[in-house]
Amino acid sequence: MTDTIWLQEMTWEEIKIKKDESFKTIILPFGSTEQHGPHLPLGTDTMVAMTLAEDAAIKANVPVAPPLWFGWSPHHMILPGTITIRPEILAEMAFDIISSLHQHGFDKFVLINGHRIVNIAWMQIAGERAKRELGIKLVIFDPA
Ligand SMILES: [Zn+2]
Repeated sequence: MTDTIWLQEMTWEEIKIKKDESFKTIILPFGSTEQHGPHLPLGTDTMVAMTLAEDAAIKANVPVAPPLWFGWSPHHMILPGTITIRPEILAEMAFDIISSLHQHGFDKFVLINGHRIVNIAWMQIAGERAKRELGIKLVIFDPA
């Protein structure tokens, strides 16, 4: 069995074994791919969310879902490399990710935002919908 907190590095059997033990909580890192000036890589927001998620996951012994590398970034489209996804698509995507994981037994979700205020609105829309429709517990952690 691998010793990773990242869902994408586990096999389904490892997830099943861990779930039988205690895994009910999962962390979801949400970031962006956008310009961050001449000194930082395009993935900075996602890397921040991943680092916070990894640190918390190791301390709490819970898994982390694969990061969402895209956010809503129309204000950065002037610089090359930025990818922007419409917020309604992101809200739907986040809901589907939460819904999929909920079908596998996860019922507590910690959403970590690495993309400051721009991601918050669609994360809240997806989170509120998921709480209402799926009956899960969900919190959003925003370091900004
Ligand atoms: Zn950002």
